[in-house]
Amino acid sequence: MVERDRTDKLAPFRDKFSLPPGVIYLDGNSLGAMPRATAARVAAVVQQEWGEGLIRSWNDAGWMDLPGRIADKIGTLIGAAPGGMAVGDSTSVNLFKLLGAALAARPDRRVILTERGNFPTDLYIAQGLSALLAAGHELRMVAPEDIAGALDDSVAVLMLTHVNYHTGAMFDMAGLTRAAHDTGALVLWDLAHSAGAVPVDLAGADADFAIGCGYKYLNGGPGAPAFLYVAPRLLPDARFPITGWWGHAAPFAFETGYRPAPGIARATVGTAPMISIAALEVGVDIALEAPMAAVRAKSVAQTEVFAQLVRERCAGFGLTIVSPDDAARRGSQVSVAHPDAYPIMQALIAQNVIGDFRAPDVLRFGMTPLYLGFAELWDAVEVLRRVLTEETWKQPQFNVRRSVT
Ligand SMILES: *Cc1c(COP(=O)(O)O)cnc(C)c1O
Repeated sequence: MVERDRTDKLAPFRDKFSLPPGVIYLDGNSLGAMPRATAARVAAVVQQEWGEGLIRSWNDAGWMDLPGRIADKIGTLIGAAPGGMAVGDSTSVNLFKLLGAALAARPDRRVILTERGNFPTDLYIAQGLSALLAAGHELRMVAPEDIAGALDDSVAVLMLTHVNYHTGAMFDMAGLTRAAHDTGALVLWDLAHSAGAVPVDLAGADADFAIGCGYKYLNGGPGAPAFLYVAPRLLPDARFPITGWWGHAAPFAFETGYRPAPGIARATVGTAPMISIAALEVGVDIALEAPMAAVRAKSVAQTEVFAQLVRERCAGFGLTIVSPDDAARRGSQVSVAHPDAYPIMQALIAQNVIGDFRAPDVLRFGMTPLYLGFAELWDAVEVLRRVLTEETWKQPQFNVRRSVT
């Protein structure tokens, strides 16, 4: 492992992040680590651009151009067609906007097709939007292997998360997009666990819509602005369900009637959060410096090494690896099921091995190649082995459920 770290071409990236000494961080898929440069960038935006520049900074500090610039940078990470990207709002809100546009574009169809194990906010947003439309829309949830077979001419939109948050299983984006298009459905991909972690080619797959998170593998900070993508070919007719002034053709004309902006701006709503967008850019810039092929290769190696070590070093304790064995079908995480996953994870965290727990029974370990070493994987599994052997997890303090798991 030490040898692998020594020859790892991505190892120098770790120094770009501020991580507490002794912590093995396996939760970058939930909240990415803080880039060292973020604090200074945020301080400059607050003290100079806001504190001294005041309102003038919208023009003088380039605030107006900042969201578009970062959106395009994220677009290069995920193969977006030019002119299709925007940043702002949360992933949940962006889903609402794009799902609304997708349903409006298929007025004679009523089904939103998804995977039963999709991330809950995606399911809740689809349920809420359907209720609001009151037009008989149905959220149809099937097992992941049944998606292709469930595509028929009732499906308005196939809404999937590319890499499943719970299992780390990855869908075939190009194949499913083609299958959906063959039945006349649109496709909306949630890239929360993909952007910055696995290769994505939205334009190559001819994807219609996509959304994703700024605070996971893009290291934009807690609650960082999310991104969205609309295939430029759909934009001229796209109608979004939230019509705010930043999406207006002429925001500063202060007209009384809504007219959508001609391009992707029509998918935006209100004033963009400059401080958080500036922080997001620092994380995105680091991701752009790292060749995606190298990130993916290291991520595959790390997930493989970790799963193998868990199998070898923690055999006989009732752990089951639920992430796919086939690297081509796996994102950048390893999920391990155990009936006592919650207290086991709490015991790991108490010993500075930070992953997370996902109900009902999964220990989730995210591999972030930009700041995670191979020796740390060995150390993490040894801590897990000790927690299981010594049954540390049975201590009462690890069995108290806290609000964030
Ligand atoms: C993390 C995550 C989200 C988060 O949505 P927010 O609106 O940022 O809270 C949405 N979808 C998926 C699949 C996620 O993994």
